[in-house]
Amino acid sequence: MDLKSLGERRFECQQSGHCCSDPNIIVTLTYRDLFRLFNVLNKDFRILLQKVSFYKLEEYNQVLEEQMVLEPIQTSEGNVIPGLRKIKEFCAFFARPNCRIYPDRPMSCRSYPLAYIQRGERIVCTWVKNSRKTCPGIGKGAVLSQTFIKNLGKKYFHEIETHNYVVGELNKEAINGRPLTARGALWVLITYGEKDRK
Ligand code: SF4
Repeated sequence: MDLKSLGERRFECQQSGHCCSDPNIIVTLTYRDLFRLFNVLNKDFRILLQKVSFYKLEEYNQVLEEQMVLEPIQTSEGNVIPGLRKIKEFCAFFARPNCRIYPDRPMSCRSYPLAYIQRGERIVCTWVKNSRKTCPGIGKGAVLSQTFIKNLGKKYFHEIETHNYVVGELNKEAINGRPLTARGALWVLITYGEKDRK
């Protein structure tokens, strides 16, 4: 893993909430994230639907498009990527001074402000675009160790790869003329999370 573009590697979250209210950040959700959230919400699917949006790539600008590393799900409502809903630019789980679901927060919140980018055979770790301007935690606290950064990167890619595999399976059904609704797809993704646990 190439860490050169990180430069100084000091980071400590200052609980500023900037990342949770940045209009240029969408927190995309893997099926494992969805399963974790479902459990945090006492398995109330109705409440989960209030916290999740279905984002369509074509409706967003390039900055947001670059974050959408998840495979879009082909549904009867179009190609969508599940992500946390925003309420007046704030994440639906943000409650000042911090996150209401911090121990169970999604993978992309765990890795923030680190970004892992696949370039051919190489994985480059860098800071999320614009985070050096907006995140007051960069440059504070202890130096992040190489082991920590590499292990987080491995988890990040593993979660994304398994998610994209599952979405590929769902999309085969859509190609065969049986697309799910976005809500139906969400439910199926949660059941994959349940299967992982067994
Ligand atoms: S889930 Fe928590 S950490 Fe992630 S954006 Fe929302 S409030 Fe912030």
